[in-house]
Amino acid sequence: MDKTPNIAVFPGSFDPITLGHVDLVKRAIPLFDKIIIAIGVNSQKKSFYDLEKRLEWLNLIFEDDDKVFVDHFQGLTVNFCAKENANFLLRGLRYASDFDYEKTISQLNRTIGDNIETVFLISQPQYSHISSTIVREIIKGNGDATPFVPSEIAEFIKPS
Ligand code: ADP
Repeated sequence: MDKTPNIAVFPGSFDPITLGHVDLVKRAIPLFDKIIIAIGVNSQKKSFYDLEKRLEWLNLIFEDDDKVFVDHFQGLTVNFCAKENANFLLRGLRYASDFDYEKTISQLNRTIGDNIETVFLISQPQYSHISSTIVREIIKGNGDATPFVPSEIAEFIKPS
């Protein structure tokens, strides 16, 4: 009997993608048959980089990873999971405040999302201080955020 594939959705804003996100996906590749990195689009919230740019960067960074796909969705993450037949959510934990937030969301998603399991990977120490928020603040201040992002996008975020 064929085994049901283990499909994970990695939802986030990726505004922009950082080395922390990339490390998480690379470490998750051996755990799943397929990983869909999915940008959650909230029409009420203005992003720093537009959706097209964020999708383009994700596609560029993961173009050689056969198991990794890139997509976007509106609305509830669990509905997107159902559409994609995904049975897992992938999320990262950096510090205690991530845990408090993620715990609630994970419990909600398991209830409303037909037993979707969230798999958490703990950030590696060298990436735990990196966040998209910090990267955006550095860019807004015309600083150099390239040490925190994958080399594929460094040229696009260099200070002018
Ligand atoms: P969101 O807006 O949903 O928090 P993000 O793009 O900021 O989306 O983050 C997506 C996921 O990546 C979250 O689970 C977050 O905890 C994780 N993440 C972000 N930065 C890091 C990092 N440096 N190390 C490990 N996980 C991270």
